[in-house]
Amino acid sequence: MTTKDAALPPGATIGILGNGQLGRMLSLAAARLGYRTHVYGPDKDSPAEQVATASTVAAYEDQATLAAFAKAVDVVTFEFENVPASSVKFLMEHAIVRPNARALEVAQDRAKEKTFFAAIGAATPPWRPVDSLEDLVRALADIPPPAVLKTARFGYDGKGQVKIKSADEAAAAWKAMGTPNGIAPHAVLEGFVDFSCEISVIAARGADGTTVAFEPTENVHKNHILATSIVPAAIKPEVARRAAEIAQKAVTALDLVGLLAVEMFVTKDNHVLCNEMAPRPHNSGHWTMDGGGCDQFEMLVRAAAGLPLPQPARIADVTMLNLIGDDVNHLNAFHADPAARIHLYGKAEARPGRKMGHVNLVKPRSR
Ligand code: AMP
Repeated sequence: MTTKDAALPPGATIGILGNGQLGRMLSLAAARLGYRTHVYGPDKDSPAEQVATASTVAAYEDQATLAAFAKAVDVVTFEFENVPASSVKFLMEHAIVRPNARALEVAQDRAKEKTFFAAIGAATPPWRPVDSLEDLVRALADIPPPAVLKTARFGYDGKGQVKIKSADEAAAAWKAMGTPNGIAPHAVLEGFVDFSCEISVIAARGADGTTVAFEPTENVHKNHILATSIVPAAIKPEVARRAAEIAQKAVTALDLVGLLAVEMFVTKDNHVLCNEMAPRPHNSGHWTMDGGGCDQFEMLVRAAAGLPLPQPARIADVTMLNLIGDDVNHLNAFHADPAARIHLYGKAEARPGRKMGHVNLVKPRSR
């Protein structure tokens, strides 16, 4: 165990809740700084387990195993935001956990997230909490369609979302949300934003309270899954400044030590509207691995370990392409391209929609 103030020495062990590709890339970054990693998650032969120093395969709710994990590591972080907040709170009684459970709790619930954005003075699309069909009908009177009904918890990559084009679709949209665990869904209705582009910013906060932010990336989604992230984003400098300011304000307000990715819409009149956030490394930050300077994974390792955080120093223009499903079987052109940096996640089966890896196409910095 370590104290809150001292930086972890090389050889110390960083515990990671979650053992997917983000845990894999986090483990690789930790190894570069001389740290060991111990990953914890429910899946066997996971992407992270293949490269971590140690692995525990167990349920997130298994408190006896969580306690043993806490004992075996010097600090705990996570790479997956649907870890039960109660498990993170339990771990906080046994170990230093960075980021804290509050960041996770806010990010796990779209209603809490939007309330939080308002509290730090950041705009969101218009929204209403919806917990019944009656709520939805009332919300549609306030927020005229087109609108999107989203499950407030455990939705990702567009899952648990229904677009509503006219108020008479309310009943069908509510029905389409289903009744997970036999109870009515907790949801939000959001006005549909006719955005000029989608961007995201990854901010980091160190144990000493220093905050830094990577440049915004411009993100293109296909079938609700991130397809491409581009830096520099084609946005006005004042939009980039505002986006970075929001993300840095958010990490400080959450008293978070670690990373926070904030996804935003840029409106046609250059306003920034916050969509959602995640207190972990983010797919839209993978460009940082080949963009120069400290990347998002090293930044999280540094924050968790209590090391100083360097200012991000981009030296390249990068287009990050996700390899989804079968894309991973068509790499010949990338293998032949000296500007292409290929990152594969070690997943055996290329199921449709599954993130199998990504490619960073790197060019010298243009601006
Ligand atoms: P989310 O799960 O909230 O990140 O939504 C996935 C994607 O759906 C976003 O990245 C957008 O491309 C689109 N989307 C979500 N909410 C809205 C909205 N209110 N207006 C327009 N597009 C949206």
